Amino acid sequence: GYRARSAYKLKQLNESSSLLSPGDVAVDLGAAPGGWLQVASEEVGEHGKVIGVDLQRIKELEARNVTTIRGDMTEEDTKEQLFEAIGDDGADVVLSDMAPNMTGEYNLDHARSVYLARQAFEVALELLDSGGDLVVKVFDGPDLPDLRSDMEKEFQYVRATHPDASRQESSELYLIGKKRITAPVKKGD
Ligand code: SAM
Repeated sequence: GYRARSAYKLKQLNESSSLLSPGDVAVDLGAAPGGWLQVASEEVGEHGKVIGVDLQRIKELEARNVTTIRGDMTEEDTKEQLFEAIGDDGADVVLSDMAPNMTGEYNLDHARSVYLARQAFEVALELLDSGGDLVVKVFDGPDLPDLRSDMEKEFQYVRATHPDASRQESSELYLIGKKRITAPVKKGD
């Protein structure tokens, strides 16, 4: 079984958008308790690797292709740790299921979710190889079109989807950027 029901959301996203393949290097932001890590680990297989980051401690997984980092993705320190863990070869896919602590105040929750999605987008621009994919969770609202159009500049196409497995949280959706257009600038260039 999976650690979190959200595992099924990633399965659906993967089925509809072909995100994970054997041998891939995948980054999973906001990875606790680890449902997406379990799915990603299965999909990338023994020749792939998955690196998960979360504010919360992630209970160790059995899978040998998974590494976790405890940290805050809004902090430079954590990003540096992630870049080091990935190394120069970059990543094939960046996934973010990060969500803010909900206040119930719609606009605030929305703005915070977009801020987290933008952190994932920035990191993706550093890490993704040409052709790589990005998935970010956001709560729907007025800042979404700007985020989407910024992503459209960097990917061949962007789509928005509500996986059936997340239907109960109606304002939650995922933006999927498919096939990064340009190669990342390697550090030291
Ligand atoms: N995909 C996960 C799974 O399948 O188990 C569930 C993720 S849960 C919906 C959202 C996670 O985002 C929480 O564990 C939370 O701690 C994390 N998160 C929120 N803000 C974060 C930040 N600034 N840096 C890292 N993780 C963050």
